Amino acid sequence: MRWLVMSGLLLGMAGSVTAAQIVGVRSWAGADSTRLVLELDGQSEYRVSEASTPGRLIISLPEAKTRLEAPRWPARAGFVEAVRLDVSGRVPQLVMDLNREVEAKVFLLGPNQSYGHRLVIDLLPRQANTVIPVLAAAPAPTAPPSPAVAAAVPAPPPVLAPRPAPVRKPVSKSGRNIVVTLDAGHGGEDPGAIGKTGMYEKHVTLAIARAVAQYLNDQEGVTARLTRDADFFVPLQRRRQIARYDHKADIFVSIHADSAPNRSAHGASVFALSLQGANSATSRFAQQLAEQENKSDLIGGVVAESDDITGVLAGMLIEGTLKHSLEMGQLILGEMKPVVGKLHSPRVEQAGFAVLKEPGMVSLLVETGFISNPQEESRLINPAYQLEVARAIAEGIVRFCQQYPVPGTRFDTSGG
Ligand SMILES: [Zn+2]
Repeated sequence: MRWLVMSGLLLGMAGSVTAAQIVGVRSWAGADSTRLVLELDGQSEYRVSEASTPGRLIISLPEAKTRLEAPRWPARAGFVEAVRLDVSGRVPQLVMDLNREVEAKVFLLGPNQSYGHRLVIDLLPRQANTVIPVLAAAPAPTAPPSPAVAAAVPAPPPVLAPRPAPVRKPVSKSGRNIVVTLDAGHGGEDPGAIGKTGMYEKHVTLAIARAVAQYLNDQEGVTARLTRDADFFVPLQRRRQIARYDHKADIFVSIHADSAPNRSAHGASVFALSLQGANSATSRFAQQLAEQENKSDLIGGVVAESDDITGVLAGMLIEGTLKHSLEMGQLILGEMKPVVGKLHSPRVEQAGFAVLKEPGMVSLLVETGFISNPQEESRLINPAYQLEVARAIAEGIVRFCQQYPVPGTRFDTSGG
C-alpha cells in the first residue's frame, strides 16, 4: 500500500520564472482535510517527489528563497506532524511528516484581491477508518533553520454582546431531533466579499452561522451542526455533502454577506435553487449573485463540478424539498425584516447556486446584507447585530419546523 497518492508527480510552471521568496506560511486543519499554504512573492517552480521514507511528502522548490528572520513553521496541524524547509541540499525542499495515509493535491494559485502568489498543498484522507500509525518526528535539518513566518489568520470578532431571548417552542417528547446544518460561506483561501474597512465576508458568515447554531441547539428537538467551525476552505459540493451524508441534515442553510457593484445596495435576501437550472434565475440580481458565489471553488483552487442538475431538480420536485425551501425562505424573510429594516427582495429569489444542488434537504442561501454598503458593513461586523440576525434566521427555521413538521421528528405531533 502506498502511503501517498500524488495527483501528479511533476508539476511546474511554464514560462519565465524568477526566484520566489517564501514570505509566509499558513495552515488549516479541518475534520477531513488539511491545507498548507506557502505565500510567495512571485511564481515558483515546484516538484512533488515520492519520498523514500513512508509518511513523508517532499516538494522541491528549485528557486525558493526566504527573506524573513525568525523561522516559525506551523506546529502540528491536522495530518501534518511536522514541516520544515530543508536547504542543506542542492535544491531547497519542503519536507512534511504526515500522521496518516493521504492523497496530496499540490497547485499554484495566482494573486487575488487579498493574497499574492501561493503554493497550496491539500491533504485529504486516503481511506476512512485506516488505523493511523503516528510516526516519529523527522530528524532536524543540519543546515541552519530556514526563515519563514506563520502569517496570523485574522480571527472573527468575538461574540460578547448580550444575547437576545432564546428561541424556544414546545415540542413532542417522542421522535427524533430535526437536524439543521449551517454553512458559513467562504473561508480560508476564499475571503468572500471584502468591505471598505477591510472586513472579510468569511469572518462575518462564521460568526453568524455559529450564533444561529447556538440558538437552534437551545431549542428542544433541534440538533444544529456547522460545515466549518474555523477559517478554512471547503469546496461547494463538499459543503452540501457534509450536511447530507455526514450530518444527515433535514435542513441546510448557507450564510453570506456579499457585495454588489452598486455600493448603495442594501437589505437582506433569501435564495433557493432555480427550477430550470443555471440560466433561469428569477432576477438579474439573483443570477449575478449565483455566479459570484459559484466562483468560490475557482478562488479556492478546486475543480468545479459539472453543471448537470436535471436529476437533482427532478429529485427535489418529487420530494417537495424545493417547495418547502421556498416556504422556509418566506418565514425567514418575515423574521429578518424587522431586524434588518429593509429586504432587498421581499420574496425568495431563485438561481443556480452550486451549494444548494443537493436533493433530500430543504436548502437555502441567506444573504444577511451587503458588506459593500458602508453602513451595512458597520452593522454586520457588530456582534450585537450579528446575534439579532442569527436569532431571526433561527426563529424562521423553527417556525418552519412547526408549520411543516418532518414526520417522525419531535415537531411531528400527528402521531401523538
Ligand atoms: Zn458569499
